[in-house]
Amino acid sequence: MERLLAADEVIKSPGIPEKAPAVMAIREKGIPVISEMEFASRYMGRAKTICITGSNGKTTTTSLIYKIMREAGMNVSLGGNIGESFAYSVATAEYDWYVLELSSFQLDGMYRFKADVAVLMNITPDHLDRYDYKFQNYIDSKMRIIRNQNTRSAFVYSADDEVIAAELPKYDLPMRQLPFAAKCAVASSSGDAFLTEDGEFTTRVGKKSLTIDVSKLKIKGLHNSYNSMAAALATLAAGVEPEQVAESIYDFSPVEHRLEPAGERDGVEWINDSKATNVDSVWYALESMTRPVVWIAGGTDKGNDYEPLKPFARQKVKALICMGVDNEKLLKEFTGVVPTIVSTSSLEEAMQSAQRLSESGDTVLLSPACASFDLFKSYEHRGKLFKEWVVENVLKK
Ligand code: ADP
Repeated sequence: MERLLAADEVIKSPGIPEKAPAVMAIREKGIPVISEMEFASRYMGRAKTICITGSNGKTTTTSLIYKIMREAGMNVSLGGNIGESFAYSVATAEYDWYVLELSSFQLDGMYRFKADVAVLMNITPDHLDRYDYKFQNYIDSKMRIIRNQNTRSAFVYSADDEVIAAELPKYDLPMRQLPFAAKCAVASSSGDAFLTEDGEFTTRVGKKSLTIDVSKLKIKGLHNSYNSMAAALATLAAGVEPEQVAESIYDFSPVEHRLEPAGERDGVEWINDSKATNVDSVWYALESMTRPVVWIAGGTDKGNDYEPLKPFARQKVKALICMGVDNEKLLKEFTGVVPTIVSTSSLEEAMQSAQRLSESGDTVLLSPACASFDLFKSYEHRGKLFKEWVVENVLKK
């Protein structure tokens, strides 16, 4: 504590909450607290940044942007919440571009930092325990992505997101605005992207444009069209040629644990969406399902409101398998909504039920809507065990 309180400035890991006694003591003394992003950006010289935030879709969009830039031959690094630490990359190599995935906690510790290209995917309730249970505090934090942007910067955002739409009038927006949408009409003089009902989206930035046939993408669902549109806008804004952008998007496979195909046998498809740890992400997972679903969900509930999932559950889910230490809430919410509902308390039990309840033409989907900590070490651990089980007990059968 003594050494901490003697510091001129403190760099705080995003995992440490404001309420931690050490942080409160540092704040009390008026010592500035910054994030690693803010710190590293002081040393990155003339390099530029593409920064991605949002409640869902960050990792997918960040990975896609990185792939496009790399395949376009740019000297680019991947960092932030994903890959190497930003400070480590800045300290050990020289890059022209940094593609950074940013959480709201990292944004909270950023003051002078400026994103050359900022990408805001969506804002839906998450992490409210860290924001005094006030949604507006979390929104304010996400909006920090456009802090310090100027006329030379670009801002890519979802025009379909009502929360973002309500925020924009509160800000000065000197930068180039590049909205993407599938529902609301968009028209920005700088550029935009729009998904039509025919399943195509056209992305334009300045005079450059490209059109993508969504049915030919390896990443499925409306949410992945949003992710692809955002990545296309960001990389066109960074100067990548349209043909190159399109080629890399068509070639992009799902990131591990995000609607990741885990195998198919006897007409049953198994999908690992272990990273879907909140209601909104499961909404998009169910939205993208085209066959009857045996849905495995549950874990540590974060105060979920399951209401938005019920229409898809009614329409697409033939059986819900609850997998958790405490399944009471899920059972209560979905009894009468889906025809069959089973309570299990281990992966083994859940998987056996899934195998028993699925038949040719079905999809077994692990998309939990909950954190994993009751039965697993992490969402990665949960997804890995799911995939291993499928290999051992389904594919090798
Ligand atoms: P994040 O890094 O923000 O958690 P990911 O790309 O890892 O986002 O995706 C997490 C989950 O959220 C996925 O499993 C998927 O079901 C869902 N998802 C992905 N993109 C979106 C999006 N644009 N909008 C809503 N949900 C999404």
